[in-house]
Order: sequence, then C-alpha cells, then structure tokens
Amino acid sequence: MSVFEQARGQHINSYYAASANGATDFPALTDNVEADVCVVGGGYAGMSAAIELAEQGYSVVLLEAVKMGWAASGRNGGQIIGGWNAGYDGLANSFGYDTAKLFADLSEEGKRIIYQRAEKYGINADIKKGYVTAAMYQPHLADVQHYAEELSKWHYPHAVTVLSQQDMQQHVASDRYIGGLYDEGSGHFHPLNYAIGEAKAAASIGVRIFENSAVLNITSGDDPTVYTAQGRVKAKQIILAGNCYLGKTAAKLQKKIMPASTFVIATEPLGAERAKQLMPSDAAVCDLRHILDYFRLSVDGRLLFGGKTIYRGVDPKDIAKVMRKGMLKVFPQLADVNIDYAWGGHIDLSVNRMPSVGEYEGNVYFAQGFSGHGVVPAHIAGRVLAEKVMGNTERYDVWQQIKHYSFPGGTLLRKPGFLLGSSFFYLQDLWASLR
Ligand SMILES: Cc1cc2nc3c(=O)[nH]c(=O)nc-3n(C[C@H](O)[C@H](O)[C@H](O)COP(=O)(O)OP(=O)(O)OC[C@H]3O[C@@H](n4cnc5c(N)ncnc54)[C@H](O)[C@@H]3O)c2cc1C
Repeated sequence: MSVFEQARGQHINSYYAASANGATDFPALTDNVEADVCVVGGGYAGMSAAIELAEQGYSVVLLEAVKMGWAASGRNGGQIIGGWNAGYDGLANSFGYDTAKLFADLSEEGKRIIYQRAEKYGINADIKKGYVTAAMYQPHLADVQHYAEELSKWHYPHAVTVLSQQDMQQHVASDRYIGGLYDEGSGHFHPLNYAIGEAKAAASIGVRIFENSAVLNITSGDDPTVYTAQGRVKAKQIILAGNCYLGKTAAKLQKKIMPASTFVIATEPLGAERAKQLMPSDAAVCDLRHILDYFRLSVDGRLLFGGKTIYRGVDPKDIAKVMRKGMLKVFPQLADVNIDYAWGGHIDLSVNRMPSVGEYEGNVYFAQGFSGHGVVPAHIAGRVLAEKVMGNTERYDVWQQIKHYSFPGGTLLRKPGFLLGSSFFYLQDLWASLR
C-alpha cells in the first residue's frame, strides 16, 4: 500500500489537525481535463505557484494525493524564518554580489507573500512576529555575532538584537542558552490553517483542486500530461511540487534529495500564566545545533516542541516519549505536563541544503530541496516558478546558478548515507559543546 493510500484521505493526527479551521473537501479527479498549467502537490510550493498563476488569469488544475496541506506544509514547526542555508556571504563568495542580493530580496519577499496573502484572502492562521535564534555552546555566540553583522551588511529591513544570557530569559525560561539573536521580522503561525486558507484562496480565484488524486505518471513535451488512477490532465506546462513523495513518478528528482524525518509534540494547554512565564515574548525559538530544537507557544497556550531530525530512515516507536525527553532538557519545569499530540514528517534535504527550482523535462518544472527550512522558501519558489511559466525568466535564471548534485550512491546506498549523515551532524554538535 502506498503512503498516500495509508493516509486514507485524512490528515495525520496532530495538534494542527485537531485545531484546524474547518477542512478542505475537494473531489477526486475522475475525468480527463485540460488546463494551462497543472500543479502536482498541495503544499505551500504548489499552492503558491497556483495562486500566482490564477491571479494572472491562467487556468490551473492542482492535484493533491491526499488532502491539501497533508505533508510538511500542514504539520511543520510553524516557524516563519528568512535567510538561506548557504548564508548571504556564502552566496556572494560563490556566485557574486548580485546573486546574493537577489536571494536576500527573495527571502524577504517570501515572508511578505505569507503576510500579504493572509490579509488579502482573510487567512486566519495565528500569525505572530518575533523569532529567537538561541546559542547553546560557546561557538554559537560567534555564529550569532556573525549572523547579526551579515544581516546588517545585507540591509536586513527589520530590527535584530544580540541577546546576552540574561536577555534570553525575556524570551525563554530556560538555563540552556548562553545568548541569542532576536529578530522582529520573522515569526510563527499555524501551518495547517495557513495551508487550508491558501487552498480556499486558490479555489476562490478559479484553481480547480482535486484531492485524493495521486499522480502516477507524467509525460513531457508539447502536450505534457499527468495521469492519476481515474483521470488525466493535459496542460501546456506542469509544475511538480511533491517534496520527497514523488518517488518513481519523477525518478530523476529523487536522486537530488534525501528524505529525513523530524518530529513535533504539543503539550496540554499550560494555562495563560504558565505559558507566559515559559516564553514571555511569545517568539518562536530555534537553537543553532545541526540536530536542533525548535519550539513556540500555540495560541491556546501549549508548548509545541520540535526537533530530533533523523537521517537514518527509522522513526522512533514512541515519538512522544523521545521528544518529551528533549523538551525536559530545555524546560525541566514541565515534568508534570502531559503530551497531548506527537507527530512527524519528512523533509527533502538537498546536498547543499539550498532549494532548487528547475526544468525536469520539456515543459515540466519542479521545486524541491527545502531541507527543513521551507515555509518561506516554498512560497517564493512557487512565485518564481509561476514567473517562469508566464515567460518572465529573470529570477528563475539567476536561481539556476546554484548547482545541485545527486546524493552519492544513488537511492540504493541511501541507508548507509543516512547513518553517516546522522553521525556526522551529531559529532559536529558534540564538538561545539566541548569547545
Ligand atoms: C515536522 C516538520 C517541521 C518543520 N518545521 C519547519 C519550520 O518550522 N519552518 C520551516 O521553514 N520549515 C519547516 N519544515 C519544512 C517545511 O514545512 C517544508 O519545507 C515545506 O512545507 C515544503 O513545502 P512543499 O510544498 O515543498 O511540500 P509539502 O508540504 O510536503 O507538499 C507536497 C505535497 O505534494 C503531494 N504529492 C506528492 N507526490 C504527489 C503525487 N504523486 N501526486 C499528487 N500529490 C503528490 C503530497 O501529498 C504533499 O501534500 C518542517 C517540516 C516538517 C516535516
């Protein structure tokens, strides 16, 4: 049974599904239809592209294998974070100032898409501003300083403040952190409610959405077509935005990404006072390790605590137990608190941890490789792909400068690769803790 069939048309059991603003209920594709563009995948990347195209009058069909927002976009940590894993200085060193500047601008534009789309279409997703990057070990303090300087050099348009160990208490009631950086321009939201809101927005401007409609085959060329079990869509152009779930349907893409898992727990509601004491500024927090913790409060005062990225393909049997252990290292004062929800999801790591947009085959395009940091990048990638489809290739062309390589060993040797990757990141964090 495929992973989509196992889902049985339902979101996973998460705090987000339990607190969703209604649900989407689009039909399955049971016919042969035509469109200017067919988008495969109802996550942020696919929906962002679809909305951009429909806003410009294109006819768009979007096919989603399960439910809109079923995968990463509906179950992530909700952290709205800018920047790119390569860093602006790193991009400038490799590709020159103009490319780095474009990526700095794209990151901000990606955040604006989220905020402005919410206003334009009345999406209620508990959007909040405020984000803390937390330093755990001495080398992280230098990282924080460097990051603050880099943001200033690249004219970051929001206030950022370097935090001392004492300042950190204004954000997180934990002794774990020795400093950090507060960023007023990033923040957090309810990811599934945002995804549901985007799906409804897309439908309201004419995007024909089909759920429970997994694409099984794709042909490229002059009449690119996608096939599901019960129908097909013939389009002028196709956009693939399936994260790491496309599998053999787009086998050449699979080689460039490695699936990894990450997990989130939601505590029971802490009560307004206790929640405020725990995270007084209500900012989202993420630490600077390679295998990192990310956490924030929900609007009803739960702690949503994420982390434990696993590169070896075997998920823990008891997610709640494993994640609770990690949470208590940060917040030992929560020992009496119950865990109401625990879930996980897949992220699509690329070799260089940068997302890619590109052409798969004639008239078939794709976005992938968000590497666990995709809330903002998937939104801007969707827009840049839509621009390409509409004939404006300027920003798409600059993005092509970033080369993407296949994972060594192809898909067969992935498992040893997972293990190596996992141990490598673990050792890097251990080394930082000892310095
Ligand atoms: C647990 C978790 C926590 C995370 N936390 C954060 C965070 O706090 N901040 C951040 O920036 N990023 C975070 N991420 C990453 C971020 O959520 C993703 O990078 C982003 O949502 C990717 O969007 P997407 O549209 O590319 O993919 P997805 O949201 O995964 O959507 C892909 C969709 O395509 C569909 N699909 C796939 N194949 C087919 C097919 N053959 N036919 C039809 N449909 C298909 C799938 O069903 C799925 O709905 C997290 C990810 C996870 C899993």
